[in-house]
Amino acid sequence: MNHPIASYLQTDNLGAWGTYLEQVDRVTPYLGPLSRWVETLKRPKRILIVDVPIELDDGTIAHYEGYRVHHNLSRGPGKGGIRYHPNVTLSEVMALSAWMSIKTAVVNVPFGGAKGGIRVDPKPLSVGELERMTRRFTSEINMMIGPQKDIPAPDVNTNEQIMAWMMDTYSVNQGHTSTGVVTGKPIALGGSLGRRDATGRGVFVVAKEAYADMGCDVTQAKVAIQGLGNVGGEAARLFAKSGAKVVAIQDHSGTLYNPNGFNVPDLLRHVSIAHEIKGFDGESIPAESFWSTPCDILIPAALESQITKVNAQLIQAKLIVEGANGPTTPEADDILKERGIAVVPDVIANAGGVTVSYFEWVQDFSSFFWTEEEINRRLDKIMIDAFRGIDSIAKMHHVSLRTATFIVGCERILKAREMRGLYP
Ligand code: NAD
Repeated sequence: MNHPIASYLQTDNLGAWGTYLEQVDRVTPYLGPLSRWVETLKRPKRILIVDVPIELDDGTIAHYEGYRVHHNLSRGPGKGGIRYHPNVTLSEVMALSAWMSIKTAVVNVPFGGAKGGIRVDPKPLSVGELERMTRRFTSEINMMIGPQKDIPAPDVNTNEQIMAWMMDTYSVNQGHTSTGVVTGKPIALGGSLGRRDATGRGVFVVAKEAYADMGCDVTQAKVAIQGLGNVGGEAARLFAKSGAKVVAIQDHSGTLYNPNGFNVPDLLRHVSIAHEIKGFDGESIPAESFWSTPCDILIPAALESQITKVNAQLIQAKLIVEGANGPTTPEADDILKERGIAVVPDVIANAGGVTVSYFEWVQDFSSFFWTEEEINRRLDKIMIDAFRGIDSIAKMHHVSLRTATFIVGCERILKAREMRGLYP
């Protein structure tokens, strides 16, 4: 019997996973005969929940809950980041893994979708505690990961050092060095040039292309950015370098406004030391006012579900480019559409990271490393070609860029699923 919903999802609060399911429902009418397979997209292939016990520096034992989800592996090994955050839940990790399936298909890299995380606030942990937690988690998910099986990468609150510990732990367990098991590694351990900046770079490249399509010039744009981390920070740097003005910024510590444009290199220096925007020059404004600040391009680059039916009414921008995963709720999406605000969805806008992760994985296998110019040239081409393809589908079907992106992604996954067939 085909139950409409898997038992572990029978809850009223599906959060980001609910957003994803609604996105799939919206695209199903466009999938033709492939819609026969659409249920595949609504059920993760496998889920692992692990206990991660560690000894804290004060001698007490702490237990954290960790997850690794393989959403769909029809097109290749799983690919997706590891998030450390106190609000990580299974349904969030499931949604993030599903968006990875769509994203890898949209930019046509040969991966499926996966994601992982630990429900923890890593900020109070010492370096030793963070290392012990990362290594224990890696050992617990050892059965899920591997260069041919599933390749983790950084996400919110994880970085190159954490990838180095994961790679080392996996390698020790295997008995040989295996650099291809994670991406986003330090360069000295088989990381790729350009990986750290790739997601923010992709956001900027796609924003420039989409804004030009609207007959506007990015160099004249006023930009508001939520999140000044790996993604938002690099996007801010490239917008400012192009001549655009970054006029509003928000992170976990506050919201700042400067109608003349922030000095972005100084801002990024401040963030690299203080780990927050608080204390930087600019008018401090209430958090809700961020959404209504006058700007042309808005870049949400922090967490999910930030653009809601309430603040979607207030947004002044002509264009939203989603650096974060899942920042817009479906209700907000409808309001933005009615208001004529274009949205370039996450599954294309932030695909630069997974694209260069793919380059890193290829370089690790061949032990032959490319120059940064070559990486950026290939990245820009993949991002622009993918965006152009999606834009033409949006125009052909008279649908939003999000629906068009999901049409492309779902079709590629389900075609692979159909051709592989069901076993037995
Ligand atoms: P990060 O940890 O480097 O930065 C996160 C930023 O969000 C920080 O500036 C933080 O202060 C801010 N933030 C956190 N909570 C906030 C809140 N409540 N309100 C406002 N700001 C808040 O993370 P990142 O790697 O830049 O990832 C940001 C988003 O981009 C996430 O949704 C992530 O899944 C997505 N993403 C990241 C990559 C990548 O390569 N890093 C790739 C694709 C998608």
